[in-house]
Amino acid sequence: MSAKVILKKARDKSLLRRHPWIFSNGVERVEGNPEQGSTVEVYSKEGKWLGRGAYSPQSQIRVRIWTFDQQETIDLAFFQRRLARCQAGREHVIEQCGLTGYRLVAGESDGLPGITIDRFNNVLVCQILSAGAEAQRHLLIEALQLQFPQLTIYERSDVEVRKKEGLTPTAGLIHGELPPQPMTFMENGLKLLVDVEKGHKTGAYIDQRDNRAIAAKYVKDKRVLNCFSYTGGFGTYALRAGAAEVINADVSAPALALAQKTAELNQLDLSKLNNVEADVFKLLRQYRDNKEQFDVIILDPPKFADNKAQLVGACRGYKDINMVAMQCIKPGGILLTYSCSGLMDAPLFQKIVADAALDAGRDGQIVEKLTQAADHPIGCAYPEGFYLKGLVVRVW
Ligand code: SAH
Repeated sequence: MSAKVILKKARDKSLLRRHPWIFSNGVERVEGNPEQGSTVEVYSKEGKWLGRGAYSPQSQIRVRIWTFDQQETIDLAFFQRRLARCQAGREHVIEQCGLTGYRLVAGESDGLPGITIDRFNNVLVCQILSAGAEAQRHLLIEALQLQFPQLTIYERSDVEVRKKEGLTPTAGLIHGELPPQPMTFMENGLKLLVDVEKGHKTGAYIDQRDNRAIAAKYVKDKRVLNCFSYTGGFGTYALRAGAAEVINADVSAPALALAQKTAELNQLDLSKLNNVEADVFKLLRQYRDNKEQFDVIILDPPKFADNKAQLVGACRGYKDINMVAMQCIKPGGILLTYSCSGLMDAPLFQKIVADAALDAGRDGQIVEKLTQAADHPIGCAYPEGFYLKGLVVRVW
């Protein structure tokens, strides 16, 4: 008999709306002795069955629901069904963008809480992030092998969030052979490079794919500064689209080396490309103080807030770089600015960008509102799945 988790009065509301998380303070009592990650039955205070999920005794997110269907058991077939749905839901974007790199599984938004899987060519890169996902890892891997028998499976669960679940970070080969890294994958007709062993997260930021294509609309014959460039994604698109000059700026020398290689691989005009290893906060100030001006600036910083306590500091950081960037933009030029901090919602981000324009003494007009690529869906019941926000701002 599975253990039971009984919720406090009125704490069933979010589950009835199929939100997959139960916070520790919503739990009235636990019947039985569930182990870390084991499957529990969730009931309302009144005794109504609500869902079947994974128990995580060390996390504030005490239960993550696997299924809202009482008939559905959490077995190999469950993972096979979910994975098949994930693949089916990506076919359109794979085809439209000619992708060999895409997000196959986007965690809660795909009904697979705590699991992220990106595919690059014949390699599946998995992140197993919650106690429940960890407890089911063998079924998940078996289901992946059945659905994709030819593919290599590589794990990149070397992330801090695992600690919140009482797990240690881990990484390494699970199945098959890993081709030499970095490797080339295709996106919108460009060859991009990914290093799934040493790269950030699963190796590449494919959530920005559509936004790179959008950025390309603004860059012909323009001087472009690509801040927080990583391996140069936006810069590569900009060069192809006929930018007069592209500067990629990042603190990571290995990432910039890949940016250079990517431009070579795509036979782009290297004389127009400059890769600058620098702290963007300082670099932007230098440009401003030297009165350097750009037609287009891209700001795609890392996540500034991991928790609510960091949000105020994060707001300051976003406002600062957006303000200085606007001061470096020619009148009528374009700022493409992003936030991947899930805790910062779109209205707050827009307000920060508005404040930055005020402080920069510039008039801004939002001309496009942007989001994450279609292979990073947002579960309707799981608004937290919306994390990447962007604005295209014309700066006068
Ligand atoms: N725009 C990229 C993804 C950016 S991820 C793409 O489309 O692929 C964020 C990047 O910011 C990382 O490459 C990280 O090395 C870099 N970074 C973090 N802090 C930085 C800082 N202070 N100055 C410059 N780069 C920084």
